[in-house]
Amino acid sequence: MLIVMKPNATEAEIAEIRKRLWGMGRTTREFPVDSRVTISILGDSSGVDPDLFSTMAGVDETIPIYKPFRLAGRDFRAGNTVVDVAGELIGGNSLAIIAGPCSVENRDQLLRTAEAVKRRGARFLRGGAYKPRTSPYAFQGLREEGLALLGEAKAATGLRIVTEVKDVATLDAVAEVADMIQVGARNMSNFSLLEAVGERSKPVLLKRGISATIEELLMSAEYILARGNQNVVLCERGIRTFEPYTRNTLDLNAIPVIKKLSHLPVLVDPSHGIGMWDGVTSMALAGIAAGADGLIIEVHHDPSVALSDGQQSLKPERFAELMEKVRRIAPIVDRTIAGEHRPHTHRPVPAD
Ligand code: PEP
Ligand code: MN
Repeated sequence: MLIVMKPNATEAEIAEIRKRLWGMGRTTREFPVDSRVTISILGDSSGVDPDLFSTMAGVDETIPIYKPFRLAGRDFRAGNTVVDVAGELIGGNSLAIIAGPCSVENRDQLLRTAEAVKRRGARFLRGGAYKPRTSPYAFQGLREEGLALLGEAKAATGLRIVTEVKDVATLDAVAEVADMIQVGARNMSNFSLLEAVGERSKPVLLKRGISATIEELLMSAEYILARGNQNVVLCERGIRTFEPYTRNTLDLNAIPVIKKLSHLPVLVDPSHGIGMWDGVTSMALAGIAAGADGLIIEVHHDPSVALSDGQQSLKPERFAELMEKVRRIAPIVDRTIAGEHRPHTHRPVPAD
């Protein structure tokens, strides 16, 4: 059970609740949600009568929670959360489109790709400055120099920046330029990093771990939410299965399942999901059809020279085709593309 205090609840009122719960042998934890203190009763709270608390001074509401993820679940918030990323909304009716290279490689590559994806309708630029690579001998990213180039691309295009944080040590630097901080698949269970991004209000794009269950993804989101940061966007990017033909298996089941369990927006990353460029558009469309709130797509002006993930990166022309198809499929699932007007789809009904 959660006990949500009123925004103006006093410390004495909070202490009264604590005292009563502790007197009942319960352990509690407190955290801020939308500037309201929320008291969580740890463990099984089925024996605690919410009516004992709902009338106490300073209490706004008591919420029974049946799932292990308390704040990420629909018990806590029935409606859909819309995350505001520097004025661009993720969630709701419009589809958020994030596109750009896997890694920031140099000024020319980043600026050319940024202009190209912007022209085709992306509102966010992705690009890693710190790259968590399987091999220590692979390109690790341009680091600070990459962040500076992302800052330049932001100034030049107005695109919102999505870039990955690899560790707590570089979080301040990443947060300086990022409009949304990406926590990658390999860091989904890095709980100190989750807590650190949870201490801020900057939106977080949390990618599903390579072998993580849906519940584990939601519990990782919970780490961020429990620290007070409510701006969490989830991302299905494929999981490892026995199938070697594709890089990962994009778990489209996860989209309707997460939508049922959680109020948080969820994006699909078909680039890492399938791992080959000629399958990306099909899986992007499938993700939208399955109910995703948007896409994150790897695009490179010349994938043949990319320093990472060239095999799954789209050329700008291919990205343009993907966007055209997304524009056609979006109205079928009652969506528009963020920043674009709904196309005129009305056709006269033929007479009998
Ligand atoms: C990426 O977005 O380039 C990336 C490394 O993704 P993931 O963490 O999903 O592997
Ligand atoms: Mn990549």
